[in-house]
Amino acid sequence: MKKTLSDIDVKEKKVLVRVDYNVPLDANLKITNDKRIVSTLPTLKYLLNENAAIILMAHLGRPKGKIVSEMSLKPVSTRLSELLDKPVKFIGGDCVSVQSRKAAADLRPGEVLLLENLRFHPEEEGRSISGEKDKNAMEAFAKELASMGEIFIQDAFGTLHRSHASTAGIVKYVKGAGVGFLVEKELKFLGEALEDARKPFLAILGGAKVSDKISVIENLLNKVDAIIVGGAMAYTFLKSRGINIGSSLVENDKLDLSVELFKKAKDRRVDFLLPLDHIVTNKVDFESKQVPCEAIVKVTVDEAISEGFMGVDIGIKSINKFSEIIKSAKTILWNGPLGIFEINEFSKGTVEIAKLVAEATDKGAISVVGGGDSVAAVKKAGVDKRISHISTGGGASLEFLEGKELPGIAAIPDR
Ligand code: AMP
Repeated sequence: MKKTLSDIDVKEKKVLVRVDYNVPLDANLKITNDKRIVSTLPTLKYLLNENAAIILMAHLGRPKGKIVSEMSLKPVSTRLSELLDKPVKFIGGDCVSVQSRKAAADLRPGEVLLLENLRFHPEEEGRSISGEKDKNAMEAFAKELASMGEIFIQDAFGTLHRSHASTAGIVKYVKGAGVGFLVEKELKFLGEALEDARKPFLAILGGAKVSDKISVIENLLNKVDAIIVGGAMAYTFLKSRGINIGSSLVENDKLDLSVELFKKAKDRRVDFLLPLDHIVTNKVDFESKQVPCEAIVKVTVDEAISEGFMGVDIGIKSINKFSEIIKSAKTILWNGPLGIFEINEFSKGTVEIAKLVAEATDKGAISVVGGGDSVAAVKKAGVDKRISHISTGGGASLEFLEGKELPGIAAIPDR
């Protein structure tokens, strides 16, 4: 068990907090979704209550080691100030400049400072100024960041799978370190789902590619009682069983692996469920996310899809079959949509599954939903408040589900 915020004396200390403020901005640099900022408030309010001086470290976008003014964290400091109802100091340009260091040095208990985008510095991601991999440059940068505070709190779940200066490197240069409340909650739900799940344990996986989720499936096959695979991923599995999939998305180089995964599931007595029918179309515009008016959209009678048509959502037979499994599950883990849910006509399967997961949760199941698209799907279905836990980091939660140790967690000392 890793040290958490409540294990550490932060009273009136200068506390460096790594947060995930990688929020979406529109063309006018207005934040379009502030969920990531809001989710850090429990940690920040606790620290303010302890009269700590808070120095926030974050990144935004991919500036690739250069100062890119559109990727400044300035809009975040404004929003955070509104949410905390107090001023948030912000120095633009460079997070370790003389001015930034002075602001950190002058920071008083109960005050908040947000440092500028860490990724304006190539050292954050382990590169030198000239762009080459350079561990020493990363160490020196981590040390510089650490020198601005006394305690380090890791609360950026979305970056835990990165071994960067501010996520892992910094820990050895501070007097004490632990995870914040957001990361603690993520580890509790994802960790309990994997290690201590109430049975039957069901995993629902969807999304674009089998290749992105192979290791997740492999790891989950050791833990779950049933696995439902939908979305484009399902077509590679169906093809590997000799079923006609028309022009659906497929990864032909993953057919053998799909056969192997089926065999593993059978050996481990894991129920491996694929769609029994599909919504198919002969035309879809992926760019504009539109169905052209001349397109034919229909439902198949069974798993097979005829030539010229592609599967874009699960059909009603599949929804009914999956419904039985979802209703009987006590732990449900869901990552990835079951169809092209961004297009209204093809969102029904994903939305219905979201509602079924919420109903199962109302009746006592633990549900954990991760990955940006599945989170968007539970919101679209209007059931996000009824899910036990919505994971904030797509890549990090996938790596966690793969059973990998995340560098941002590994670095934190045990209790
Ligand atoms: P991922 O990031 O792997 O979770 O994939 C999410 C994407 O998969 C979404 O943009 C979906 O539109 C897409 N997707 C889901 N089902 C299908 C499908 N049947 N055909 C094509 N794309 C799909």
